[in-house]
Amino acid sequence: MNYQVNEKGYYGNFGGAYIPEMLVPNVEELRENYLKIIYSDSFQKEFNDLLRDYVGRPSPLYLATRLSEHYQTNVYLKREDLNHTGAHKINNTIGQVLLAKRLGKTRIIAETGAGQHGVATATVCALMGLECIVYMGEVDIQRQAPNVARMKLLGAKVVPATCGSKTLKDATNEAIRDWINNPVNTHYIIGSVVGPHPYPDMVARFQSVISEEIKMQLTEKIKRDHPDYVIACVGGGSNAAGAFYHFLDNEKVKLIAVEAAGKGVYSGHSAATMVLGKPGIIHGSKTMLMQTDDGQITEPYSISAGLDYPGVGPIHANLFETGRAAFVNATDEEALKAVFLLCKLEGIIPALESAHALAHLEKLKAKKNEIVVVNLSGRGDKDLATYIEKMQ
Ligand SMILES: *Cc1c(COP(=O)(O)O)cnc(C)c1O
Repeated sequence: MNYQVNEKGYYGNFGGAYIPEMLVPNVEELRENYLKIIYSDSFQKEFNDLLRDYVGRPSPLYLATRLSEHYQTNVYLKREDLNHTGAHKINNTIGQVLLAKRLGKTRIIAETGAGQHGVATATVCALMGLECIVYMGEVDIQRQAPNVARMKLLGAKVVPATCGSKTLKDATNEAIRDWINNPVNTHYIIGSVVGPHPYPDMVARFQSVISEEIKMQLTEKIKRDHPDYVIACVGGGSNAAGAFYHFLDNEKVKLIAVEAAGKGVYSGHSAATMVLGKPGIIHGSKTMLMQTDDGQITEPYSISAGLDYPGVGPIHANLFETGRAAFVNATDEEALKAVFLLCKLEGIIPALESAHALAHLEKLKAKKNEIVVVNLSGRGDKDLATYIEKMQ
């Protein structure tokens, strides 16, 4: 079994590049060049130097002893929360901005929902001295004021999307329109393993540093290069793809992807795509998608803004269809419980997204001698207002 993308940009039945004619040259330019550039010596050196000195990698693999005691197993946390800007997203934006520079691009565009990807993009544009335009729904701009302030402080221009529901998908439409109008000097940084080929593969490769490090760190700590379980939350699926990547072909490792069940999978307020979705096309790729019977995309819901996405990356649709990864889910309430438990037992305040992965430990029932790695995708500072409100 091979879980990687094929020549045509497909993972099994999913993926591809379903894009308007006008975007073909931009996407083709990327497709023809990305592997050559990424695996050149000069790229690898610059990328790895920045991951080390700017992001702070390798991120620690921490044996959470009190949490392990609580669950009667061995829980290791992969500390992506300790990265510069507080999550895994920076691994990808650094990679894409270096690629854009080598393609001669001088202008970067991005879309953002909660603002986390916008901040990671604005950060690397400041680092590289590139012009940065972030499209964001007008409603999201109001809901996510601190991240809007961060982006502006970092020198980005935040452009409101004023059509439709004025949220993420409208911001995406604006970004695509911009890219069509500025094909020569502009690179579009997508923030997860979504979008037309080659984006899902490119983003997975940039995030694969997570599992590369887990392998080395486990070897060092326990003389074994793989755990029994890797657990990660899934919005678009980039932190999960990165945490799974180097274990995909090792069937001894059980891969568990946790989606957001919101107020309950069947409550009408959920983002559990694998349970509720059907194959469809979103953001230029064929994947699993929450939609109505006549193909309209359903509005997703989760307490965590980063998991509030109606699709998943095509790599995950294939891992689901082949059964290579188990797709489970956690509700808002279960995630909040996991937040408070990690705070109490380990002195770590996780992001709400990451708490969905932690919540699965309740149901996992791992054995005493088994090794469980949970990818702690981000820190909880951004979610403090929610935690204060829910704290008893
Ligand atoms: C954005 C985000 C996610 C969800 O995105 P993926 O592409 O699924 O990884 C998860 N955790 C954190 C902390 C995020 O910021």
